[in-house]
Amino acid sequence: MRPVSKNSRRSVGRHLRGMLKATIMQRRRETVYRMLAKRNAGIVSCFVCGKHVPRQWATLEHVLPLSKGGTDEMSNLSISHAKCNHRRGNTNEERGDEV
Ligand SMILES: [Zn+2]
Repeated sequence: MRPVSKNSRRSVGRHLRGMLKATIMQRRRETVYRMLAKRNAGIVSCFVCGKHVPRQWATLEHVLPLSKGGTDEMSNLSISHAKCNHRRGNTNEERGDEV
């Protein structure tokens, strides 16, 4: 094992830290997905449209958006389709759905 100096932590760039966070959230997505699947006999309902979400389309959804004071806690996380998540993210919730 190679000793790591304390200062080396400071040199971790913002980019790397962002990647680290992405990895954490990816793992959390797996955990949330598995948790929901277990709870509902393998069915994971999309937070947005309510239909089953296949694992490969699963994205992590914040029940209360971070921009509105939501957290990354498990209790604030759900699963949605990548498509639904994207659509929701692009919609201004204040204005409601304009179809
Ligand atoms: Zn959906």
